[in-house]
Order: sequence, then C-alpha cells, then structure tokens
Amino acid sequence: MLKRLRVLVVAVVVLAALLAAAAPALAVHRPTRVMIVVMDQMQPGYAKQYNMTNVLMLQNKGVNFPTAWVGDMASETVVSHNVMVSGLFPKHMGWSDEAFRDVDNILGYGENAIVTSGDLGTAAYVKLIENMDYPKLGDYLKATFPDAVVANVGQKGYQVESMAASSSDFWVRMGSAKATTTLADPSVVPWVGKYRGPSGQLPTYIASDTRFLISAGNATDAYGTNATAPAWIYPEDGRYAPSEYAGHESGDAWVADAALKIIDNETWSGLWVTFSAIDKIGHMWGGGAVDTPATYNWDPNDFLQDSIHMPWVAKNADNQLGRLIAQLKAKGQFDDTLIIVTADHGSTYGAGEGFKGVNALNAGNNLNWYAGAWHAGSSTESTSTGSPNIKPLMDTGNVEFSYQSTAIETWLKDRTGAKKREAAAVMETLPGVIATYIKDGDRYKLYSSSSAMTAQERLWWAATGQQLVDTMCFSGSADLVGLLADKVSYGAFGDHGGAQKDVQRIPMAWYMPGMKHAVNNAKMRLVDMMPTVLKTMGIKATEPMDGMAYSLRLPK
Ligand SMILES: [Zn+2]
Repeated sequence: MLKRLRVLVVAVVVLAALLAAAAPALAVHRPTRVMIVVMDQMQPGYAKQYNMTNVLMLQNKGVNFPTAWVGDMASETVVSHNVMVSGLFPKHMGWSDEAFRDVDNILGYGENAIVTSGDLGTAAYVKLIENMDYPKLGDYLKATFPDAVVANVGQKGYQVESMAASSSDFWVRMGSAKATTTLADPSVVPWVGKYRGPSGQLPTYIASDTRFLISAGNATDAYGTNATAPAWIYPEDGRYAPSEYAGHESGDAWVADAALKIIDNETWSGLWVTFSAIDKIGHMWGGGAVDTPATYNWDPNDFLQDSIHMPWVAKNADNQLGRLIAQLKAKGQFDDTLIIVTADHGSTYGAGEGFKGVNALNAGNNLNWYAGAWHAGSSTESTSTGSPNIKPLMDTGNVEFSYQSTAIETWLKDRTGAKKREAAAVMETLPGVIATYIKDGDRYKLYSSSSAMTAQERLWWAATGQQLVDTMCFSGSADLVGLLADKVSYGAFGDHGGAQKDVQRIPMAWYMPGMKHAVNNAKMRLVDMMPTVLKTMGIKATEPMDGMAYSLRLPK
C-alpha cells in the first residue's frame, strides 16, 4: 500500500502541473468535494413512492441512471460499500461476500479459516486491502487535496469501517451497547439502562458530544418489533428508529448530525454517508411496495410506531439528505460539491411461500443466514445448524459454512471435483434454487438450471447470472453458488445478496449545481462510481479498476 501511495502522490503532482499548464483550455467547473449518500437497501421506486423530494430533485436536475444496478455479487452491505470506493469487483477486494475463506491466513484465525466479513473491524479490512494492494477513492482525494479530510458516517460498523479502511481520516459509527451506569456522568442521558455511543476514528467534537449517546438495546427500543412476526426475525434495537429521547435522536438523524458536524468543522474532500433505516425496515417487513399502512396498524398520531415502517423511514432518510444539502448551501460549498445518491443493493420480498427461513424471534442472524462453522472476527468458532430448508445440504456432511439470503453460497470441506458435484446435486433441489454453479479456478461453471423459471426470471438470469457470479470468484469465495427465484429469501422477509432484478436494481443520481441534466439509460454499476468520480474531478487514475468512467456534462 505504501508503494502504491507514493506512486499516487507523484502522479497527482505531475497531473497538477499539467492541469496548471493547460488551465485556459479547461473551462469546465470541476467539483473539489464529493459526497456519496448511500440509502442502504433502497429500491429505485421508493423515490416516487415515498415522495423523497430531495432524491427526486437530484435525479431531475442532475444525471439520473434509471437502469443502474449493483452489477456484482454478493449484493451485500459489507461488499458494496467497498466496491463504490475501490472501483473493483468484489473478487479483487479481499472479500467478496458475507463470508470468505482466508486461504493465506491473513487475519490469523488459521489457514483456510472461514471468516464472516461483517464481523470484522478496520484493522482486519486494512490487512485484506493491503494484501490485494489497491488504492481507494480516499487515497486519490488525499493525494489531490492534501489539506482536506475524507470521512465516513453511518450506523453500522462493517458498513462504515469496510468503506473507510485504508483511506479515510475519520469514521463514525454506532458503538456496542453498554450500561448507562458506566458513563462518567450518567445524568447526561435521560434514561437508565443501555446506551450506544459513537465509535470509530472520531474527531473530538463528536467523541465528546453527548448528543451522540442513544438509547439502544433496552426493551422499549424494539417498538414491539421483537414480538411481531415477521419483524422479529431481525428486530429493531434502537439504532434505526429515531427514539423518544429529544436531543439523543437515533437512526438516520444521528448519521446526518455527525455528517453536519464534520462539514462544519473540517476542510473536506470526501464524505461517505450511509443511511441504514430503510435497510432495517426492509429486512423486517419485506422490501418493495409491501410495507404500506394496510399491512400493519398504522397510527398517524404515533410517529414512533410509524418510524418502524417504510413510508416514514424513507421520507425521513430523504429529509436527512435535505439537511446535508442545506448545510452545503449555508457553508458556500454547494457549487463545488459533487453529490451522488445511490444504494448498496435493492431488496426482495420473500413472504409466505417465498420465505424459506424460520419465522421466529432473532432467527435471522445465526440460524437463517448462517450455517456451519465460522470465525466472527475472533479466534473462537461460532456454529449453527442452519434452518430446516437447507438441512439436505448440511446432511451431506461436507458443508463447512453456508450463507443463505437471496442466494445460497456454500463453502465445502472436501473440495475435490466429485464432492463438489455431489453437493451441487443437493443444492439444486433446495427450494427456490433456479441455477447452481461450481467454482472452477477463477470462474463459476454452471452445474444446472431450473426449468421452473418464469419467462421474466429466465430473461434476467440469462443476461446477468454468469457475469454476476463471476464477479465474486476468487480463492476465498464459496465453492458452490445457488441463485434463487424472484421473491425468495432465506434470511428475513426482505433480503438481498443475490442476483435477482429486485435486489440488483438501485437508484443512481449524480448532481452538481449547473451541470447538464440528463437521463442516462446506460446500466451504470457500483464499480463504475469511482472511475466516474475521478474523471469528473479531473483526477487521473494510476491503478487499474474494473469499472468504467461515465462522462458528466459539467458547468462552465
Ligand atoms: Zn446494505
């Protein structure tokens, strides 16, 4: 990484000299800052459906990509966030899924240990990135604007720290739950019980601000979702709903407040902001158009009850985006800031027949999603039997670990050809499986496809299936992959991770004041974001990326 950075610095200095020499010819007004706003799990249709006026404004005034898609697998939070700022397919990142086999023991759990990516922290992500040796968007920004900081904010550790790792100056996420009695002065919060504070690489004005202490992990923080199917599979815990305690708002307002403080206090060039409440609500009730007032006890006078459902949460995420835009305007930064609004993946809705997991309290984490044995960021191995629908696969006795969401990815103990085919022959019979692949070197080979696909599923799968599974294929990726039919999920009612259209399709809007509005029907992918940012900012890429740069018409 150090070697790469040195090359970067030299290249940028040379580029700056060239730019200075050519200045009169370059009449366009380039941004000097970029703000990436990730609406975790947002389907493109939410913008209109939930009247997200700020997202719509950016789409209608900037460059909108209505057919944008993730364009890789696994379509997971911990994967996509680093794709956006590396320009690389997951197979080149160091981890390409919710779990990976650490073939070379980079993390120290042992050779070939199965490690769950979402349980790692910054230091581990940095090791994986350094092993693959690639620069990230933050590296280029810091080489170009050495006096400006790059910072990340979001609710979740793995989302913020994977994206920040190796290239950000600050990152702010919610820390683990602790007792309020452990606070130096417990009276700084108006409740007794558990709280979470900010964690990460914190600027002092956030670390010392008691506003960022939230109520999380207490019985009242679930708003009943832990007693209500299907939300109880992955219930609210206080990190996504806004909370009843004024001055200690949680959810997306917490994220926006931290981002506003950074904008206020820093000279910055890159700010990555992830709003996660849409993702939480989508997992609990099902993504898409299902979470409408008709499906639950809608009470227009009780915003806390509303706030665990999509209409309120989507609108609130948009309101928080509006606060960021207002702050950029107030600080005189709006005209020089490139704003991107996108999502790390979409969502599908596997209710009723489509849901293949167990519908019970907390069944999501270590029963529905994970099966087998794995290292959750520690030397102790965790284990799970998995849910009944994957029992035939587990019964082969050859599964080391299996992850099932809207795809099934399975790491085998015995990876000889015959044993892989034997397990694939079981995988293809699991409910909802439409195509089964076996890893063969640096690609996946189709083992079988199902005749039960609908015409629409077949069309999408034929156009995208092979390329999507190949984007995650590396030495540490799963030995078998099973793609699932539309509206099938194994983890929670709303889920992602696979290749389905609903899961792959994402919003993608690029905006800078004065830029030429366009609706671009090219299928922009997450991997195209970083090359496009670099091109838009006039920064020359010195290392290869998997994505391609789009041209945006900048103002003069
Ligand atoms: Zn996500």
